[in-house]
Amino acid sequence: MKKSLPNNLHDEVVKIRRDLHKIPETAFKEFETSNYIKNFLKSNDIEFESDIAKTGILVELIGEKTGKNVLALRADIDGLPIQEETDLEFKSQNGNMHACGHDGHVAMMLIALKYLNLNKENIAGKLKVIFQPAEEEVGGAKAMIEQKPDFFKDFTHVFGFHIWNQIDLGKIAFNDNTVFVSADTFEIEVFGKGGHGAMPHLNTDPIFIAANLIISAQSIISRKKNPGKLGVITFGKIEAGTAANITPEVVRLTGTIRAESKETREFLIDELKNLSENFPKSFGGKGKFTKSSGTGPVINNKDFANQSYSIADEIFGNNTSIKVDPVSVADDMAEFMELAPSVYALLGGKKKNSEMHHNSKFDFDERCMSYGIEFINSLATKILN
Ligand SMILES: [Zn+2]
Ligand SMILES: [Zn+2]
Repeated sequence: MKKSLPNNLHDEVVKIRRDLHKIPETAFKEFETSNYIKNFLKSNDIEFESDIAKTGILVELIGEKTGKNVLALRADIDGLPIQEETDLEFKSQNGNMHACGHDGHVAMMLIALKYLNLNKENIAGKLKVIFQPAEEEVGGAKAMIEQKPDFFKDFTHVFGFHIWNQIDLGKIAFNDNTVFVSADTFEIEVFGKGGHGAMPHLNTDPIFIAANLIISAQSIISRKKNPGKLGVITFGKIEAGTAANITPEVVRLTGTIRAESKETREFLIDELKNLSENFPKSFGGKGKFTKSSGTGPVINNKDFANQSYSIADEIFGNNTSIKVDPVSVADDMAEFMELAPSVYALLGGKKKNSEMHHNSKFDFDERCMSYGIEFINSLATKILN
């Protein structure tokens, strides 16, 4: 690694990551985490605005040289409601868990920020750092933009990353297209006519209609969507009925839609809405489709991605940069990526015997954080020059 930052960087970042790992908090309740970030910023003389979307923090670092570029960097700060089952000495005791690596994101961003702040005289333009709450449930990004629209107005570049323990240490993925998919939560209500379960001819059975609707929904994926485009419809919850011999009035289905592009996303939502509203009619019932929340796909800008490949290869050696297939998870980083050309990178942090993200035995190789900090530092120095 071509190091431009001090050698004790690793110890500094590991300490922060472990401190944060002990106090994971879930969406919009990241109060202790937020205080930790504020204290770090204060002790390094970095100004900030806090309480954005409850627990979010915004930092604006103005370089001492003049320049037009404004680079936004984002770290998500929330944990998950998972009881940790690792053997780590710094494991969480509070019933929540940093099972996605966001503790590492905050740690890297704080250390990167510390050194960029010390190097302000060589920076032209502005660096804006976003510590975002509520990524896991999706909603933190939008809430921050709504509360402080001015902060988000002038970005020329947006960069974010995720530690990814499915990728080897020392590799960073910069796709020049989709990285993560969109995610939309929907509810479908199927209305029938209740009655005695022994006399179905007098009722309109919404369970029967819903069962058929669930099967037909997969025909959107297999028969209507272009098979070359990634898209998923999954029903995760069915609610209906009170007893074995009673036909209920209504069935509620909830589920999620995932898509690799804006077009596929719109297509799947429209098709499922159509099916939900029209299909029950042919059985004498009624259907209602509601999309409750959602975020678009994470799609990188090609030029900015190419620039990122070369920066990474320059500091860490050829073949550091890789491309990966789009992953069918989502990140509301997509909201910030709407604002300017953006890159979202996956930082390889594979660790032996650790499980996938969101598993109670999740962990990552802490050495990946040094790669992340070195990369951010070089990226910021290049773009803000
Ligand atoms: Zn996650
Ligand atoms: Zn995550």
